[in-house]
Amino acid sequence: MPVANTVLTIPEPRTVALASKPYPTAGPGFVIVETAVAPVCNEARIYRDHQFEWHDSPEHLGHEGVGTVVGTGPGSRFAAGDRVIVFQGNSCRECFVCTEGLSPTHCLEIPYEGHDDGMAPQDVAAGLLGIEKANGSSSGGFAMARYRLAPNHMAMKLPDGLSFHHAAAGNCTLGCTYTAAEEAGVAAGDVVLVAGVGFIGLGAVANALYRNATVAVLGRNPYRMDLCRKLGVHAVLDPDDPGWLDQLHALTSGRRGADAAFECSGAPYYLERCLAGLRRYGALFSLGHDGPRRFSVSILNDVMDRHIAWTGGHDVRFRDRDGLLRMLGDADTQRRIDALVTHTFPMSRAAEAFEVGLTRDCGKIYLLPQE
Ligand SMILES: [Zn+2]
Ligand SMILES: [Zn+2]
Repeated sequence: MPVANTVLTIPEPRTVALASKPYPTAGPGFVIVETAVAPVCNEARIYRDHQFEWHDSPEHLGHEGVGTVVGTGPGSRFAAGDRVIVFQGNSCRECFVCTEGLSPTHCLEIPYEGHDDGMAPQDVAAGLLGIEKANGSSSGGFAMARYRLAPNHMAMKLPDGLSFHHAAAGNCTLGCTYTAAEEAGVAAGDVVLVAGVGFIGLGAVANALYRNATVAVLGRNPYRMDLCRKLGVHAVLDPDDPGWLDQLHALTSGRRGADAAFECSGAPYYLERCLAGLRRYGALFSLGHDGPRRFSVSILNDVMDRHIAWTGGHDVRFRDRDGLLRMLGDADTQRRIDALVTHTFPMSRAAEAFEVGLTRDCGKIYLLPQE
């Protein structure tokens, strides 16, 4: 058994260092996973700004990942050698969110409503730092490390034929967008608008295409628009072109708008266009945000008269995991994953990975913690 864990840290802006920590200890209900792929999510932004979300800190980074079980706590249903995807956090399994099969990130044990009062992340049992505390472990709560602790109910065995490369798209890239497509009710023949395209937008595109929807993207980054064409979108619309809305309407056979819109940037520029681009009774799903910044809507003109349903989220529901794994096994989806994962770096070269992320000339970026 290894005696140490190697953990990625960002001690100061634009600086990455690998730190040696004690090997994790797994208590009842937990497994130790040797992480094969830790996809980059918000960490490139953290590397630039050194501003952390409530669950991250300079020595605790990464929440997406796949790997192999190498150790189990007492009573685990997993065995060494099992290949798994790890979903983030450690939800309570008792609140209505958990028992109704909704998203663990929205579990009542995560006190979003108390965020402004100063939430101590290690005291949030459902969060990632809480995982280390629950196990009395000095490492392992996070994905950007060689070894990671996962609660049994947040790990799921991968089908034999599914590679780590394809399975690793099942977290924030294709996973939260799978749930978004499911909640927005995207079905074959629908017209879906995806705006503000980063890797989450690429994931929304892949999910909409998997459901045989007609997909129009609204974006300006030439690299990412080319990537969207490679994925097989039906239209790339320039949001600065005053004709974009007419071009969208031309796709929607008299309905005058998209059935669903996925806004992936949180920028008011794209939110306004998503609201404008939806048909009456359309569904808007927010997958991007701009922190606590507010956005103004006209309740009458934007929501009621046009009867828009607007929601958002950032996680995979429990009830969607099985369908998500089936999608990850689909050959067309795998070709799309191959296209949208544009870069892979050893974790020892994470600074290069984050620099590439900041250029925005990329899709999803994978880190390999064992290298
Ligand atoms: Zn993520
Ligand atoms: Zn819960």
